[in-house]
Amino acid sequence: MTDEAPSGDPKVLYATPAPQIARVTLNRAAQRNAQDTELLYALNAALDRAAADDAVRVIVIDALGPDFSSGHDLREAGGNPAGIADNMYRHDRVGTWSGFRDEGAAGQLAREQELYVGLCERWRALPKPTIVAVQGRVIAGGLMLVWPFDIVIASEDASFQDNTLAMGICGAELFAHPTELGIRKAKEMLFTSDSLSAQEAYRLGMVNRVVPRESLLDEAMAMAGRIAEKSLWALRVTKEVLNLAEDAMGRATIVRSAVGYHHLSHAHWRALSGVPVDPDFIRGSAVARKGGLAQHISGEK
Ligand code: ZN
Repeated sequence: MTDEAPSGDPKVLYATPAPQIARVTLNRAAQRNAQDTELLYALNAALDRAAADDAVRVIVIDALGPDFSSGHDLREAGGNPAGIADNMYRHDRVGTWSGFRDEGAAGQLAREQELYVGLCERWRALPKPTIVAVQGRVIAGGLMLVWPFDIVIASEDASFQDNTLAMGICGAELFAHPTELGIRKAKEMLFTSDSLSAQEAYRLGMVNRVVPRESLLDEAMAMAGRIAEKSLWALRVTKEVLNLAEDAMGRATIVRSAVGYHHLSHAHWRALSGVPVDPDFIRGSAVARKGGLAQHISGEK
């Protein structure tokens, strides 16, 4: 969608480090690559750029810093929904939802359909192979920057956590847990809100390979190189068939159904307390931050 080179201090970097391979890099290391509206649309623009470039056959996604992504940046616009909606209106939107400033459940549903489910489904459908290289922590919304991509290479220190149940919500917005982990492990991950290690994720098939931290990008680039030797036509049609197979096994229906319960949960807490998640969780997080603990959902150090 854009051919412009990034300028200033972009939240997502773009490079073509090897023939036929694009590298798209999350560049908010200090905020643990927390996702705000600008980062998500910058990632989308970078992926569009790689998709539109006929010289690019494979796309590698990685992140700078110790953690791949700490999830939604809850500090965006001071957590003010109208402010987040204002930020969304500054970008070309990828879907047909509107009314991002609407009151009640309407605005939040519209925002999350566009910004989370809409973007993730768009990235998953990108007709070129994608490889994501993951290190450190991936928390809640961070999973939405991993699961849409085709191949997951994790460093030994990577961990994957969805703590949204602890927030009173039924899982992160892209409800791919059952297809990524199987039902029992999905239940364990969500019910406990505990982290899944890279090795455990590998054993479950959620991760393709686990490699030392220092060789993470090299491994991703090496696999990208091997894939790039194949015909783009064959890669495209094979990816399409595999994505169709996953959806035929129920993935798309699960994702779309879960959106309803996710937003019922937001509406439940908003009706009870005026905020879209369990207020006890917010209080607990504030206490943990004051206590100097690293536990966070907002990308704070
Ligand atoms: Zn949500």
